Amino acid sequence: MSNSPSIVWFRNDVRIHDNPALAAACAEDGPIILVYILETNAARPKGAASNWWLHHSLEQLAAVVDRKGGRLLLRTGDAKSVLQELCAETKAKAVYWNRRYDAGEREIDATIKTSLKNAGVDAQSFNGSLLIEPWEAKTGSGVFYRVFSPFWKNLKKIGLSRDGVHDAPGSLNTGANDLYSDDLRDWRLLPSNPNWAAAFSETWRPGEAGANERLDHFLSGPVNDYGDGRNRPDCEFTSRLSPHLAFGEISPNEIWRRTHYAIDNGSIDPKAGDKFLSEIAWREFSYNLLYHYADISSKPIKPEFEAFEWDDNPSFLTAWQKGETGYPIVDAGMRQLWKTGWMHNRVRMIAASFLTKDLFVPWQDGEAWFWDTLVDADPANNSASWQWVAGCGADAAPYFRIFNPVTQGERYDPDGAYIREYIPALKNLPSKHIHAPWLAPEDVLSDAGITLGETYPEPIVDHKRMREIALERYQAIKDN
Ligand code: FAD
Repeated sequence: MSNSPSIVWFRNDVRIHDNPALAAACAEDGPIILVYILETNAARPKGAASNWWLHHSLEQLAAVVDRKGGRLLLRTGDAKSVLQELCAETKAKAVYWNRRYDAGEREIDATIKTSLKNAGVDAQSFNGSLLIEPWEAKTGSGVFYRVFSPFWKNLKKIGLSRDGVHDAPGSLNTGANDLYSDDLRDWRLLPSNPNWAAAFSETWRPGEAGANERLDHFLSGPVNDYGDGRNRPDCEFTSRLSPHLAFGEISPNEIWRRTHYAIDNGSIDPKAGDKFLSEIAWREFSYNLLYHYADISSKPIKPEFEAFEWDDNPSFLTAWQKGETGYPIVDAGMRQLWKTGWMHNRVRMIAASFLTKDLFVPWQDGEAWFWDTLVDADPANNSASWQWVAGCGADAAPYFRIFNPVTQGERYDPDGAYIREYIPALKNLPSKHIHAPWLAPEDVLSDAGITLGETYPEPIVDHKRMREIALERYQAIKDN
């Protein structure tokens, strides 16, 4: 096989460090053809915010590859045809990629592998995005985990399923200078009219370098406040690595290794470091579920939830999407999402609970909105988390745990700083009233320049009443 090119197909692994598929190609003698394909037959096309990220991430990858003496090719089409054509053009004898785990994606990949092998091309896939493969994580009785705690215990016990990390290649002989490549700008991944992503660039630095910067920054201090601070949307005590992980700009192996190193050399609080790793493990658990439940983005894992009584009220969904429910912590979260493409985890839980348990909008509609608007939209984490909040997922929050948006706000955004940041209309309201403006005396509202129903909405539902209805509807499916 020596001297014939190998193709590396980048997907959700937009990095050159610790990239097993790339490392396998580098171990061969021949040139390496690097390609990213805009798949016209994708199992689930990326949402708009993810497309914004993808544009910048590919730009960064192309620049890194260029500095190493290579060239990243961009092609459009169904991946099977594109790869077959590329193999024919370059006489490549091998195609390498890192695995993906959604049922639709696995089907596409399996078909491609068979077709390449039938054509005499060596097709190999690797684990580039998980600590442990879903089929390797098994309980004592040999079945997959449906509960997080034993999953996490097991992961800690066995550690990483693959040894070490793969260093980035020093140089890249891609031999691809004469090959056709699309122009990234022609993919039109960025919004233009209106440019709703204008503020994204202030918040994010897509690409491998940005991912490493985030991890370094987090491990240099904020991680020590992670234990309690991770629930505070008004502070920055979480890593904000999620979009980098979703695009594979950094591997969980690298995060695991560096966090352990920081714990072992005493530079971070071990308890906080462990808590952080347990959240990385939640991501693994979600992938475990994605792998074992083919319809996780549309079908409740607990089948009795098929019978749950949802309402058909599009105006509620719109009010939620726009951050106009009249519940400030929910609205601040939805506006943070729109402005930055990201929302703090605590607020994601509150907003998702509100949509499903106060407005009775099906969780799938919320999942779809997050898929379109999150820069970290992830096929495993998004679906599994929506199911978790709605109560129908594996190891899910019990259905009767219905978040109270007022007390949650008071507890986790005690001074209302988060609300003031995303809802300027409320910025002059005293902290005492900021989580329930409708209960504030008239003179306090008018001193703060607020006219409910005009400058900020009245609550669209009465939480207490909706909670009772939610419990009745839950009881109905339990009694079924
Ligand atoms: P940190 O607290 O710093 O955690 C580090 C990493 O661990 C995260 O980047 C993420 O990869 C993983 N992680 C953390 N919390 C969770 C969790 N609860 N479940 C699974 N993995 C977790 N996360 C996504 O990456 N993509 C999504 O599309 C997504 N959708 C969500 C939808 C809902 C309704 C909810 C409640 C949560 C969702 N999450 C999603 C999980 C979580 O909110 C984000 O991972 C987290 O807020 C990202 O911020 P961070 O990187 O600062 O997290």
